[in-house]
Amino acid sequence: MAFSDFRIHFLEGGADIGPVGKVVCVGRNYAEHARELDNPVPDEPVLFIKPATALVALDEPLAIPGNRGECHYEAEVAVLIGDRLTHCDKRQAKRGIAGFGVALDLTLRDLQSQLKEKSQSWEKAKAFDGSCPVSAFVEPRAVGDIGDIPLRFVLNDAVVQEASTAQMLFPITDLLTYISKYFTLLPGDIVLTGTPAGIGPLNVGDTLKAELVGVMAVETTVVSDDRQVG
Ligand code: ZN
Repeated sequence: MAFSDFRIHFLEGGADIGPVGKVVCVGRNYAEHARELDNPVPDEPVLFIKPATALVALDEPLAIPGNRGECHYEAEVAVLIGDRLTHCDKRQAKRGIAGFGVALDLTLRDLQSQLKEKSQSWEKAKAFDGSCPVSAFVEPRAVGDIGDIPLRFVLNDAVVQEASTAQMLFPITDLLTYISKYFTLLPGDIVLTGTPAGIGPLNVGDTLKAELVGVMAVETTVVSDDRQVG
């Protein structure tokens, strides 16, 4: 699948959102994960952006760059935006959610460490082509309480990440409110809400299952992306 071919879709029903936009990502939103990378627990959300070219379908074979050091999975709850949100309040934020899905914030961890050491921005490590595999979406009512969405990531039949949005440092509506002060969110934008503890490297041949437990499960396998070597 070419990177430009990605289309937002719902498992069933759902609003017609139109073309995909940007992906706003939140770093260190679960305290346990911040600690596992020796990062301080932040007092404000840490934000970065992946462009639309980062998006690929999570149910396709997952291509990781060869020859660029470790590529880590970070399973995250993905929020699909349905309304324009600028300086929104929490009520507007909640109403502006068109759907929920599950995504991976793929991270070239060795490269990110090098960039951090040089105090450079993370884009090459986190925003590269294909760095954001995302599932189909479900409408908000399908997940019930957005303050307690169970997320699980299974690598080669072992559960490696398991958490609830209840454990977030900044809950979803707070995140959208905060993000909208800096970046206007538009219909078709996606917000990745941070990863819980348990991240690690992917290898060619791995089998993966990403779940919003009881709502959706997406399985795929890891292949090498021969276009991204060197
Ligand atoms: Zn992440």
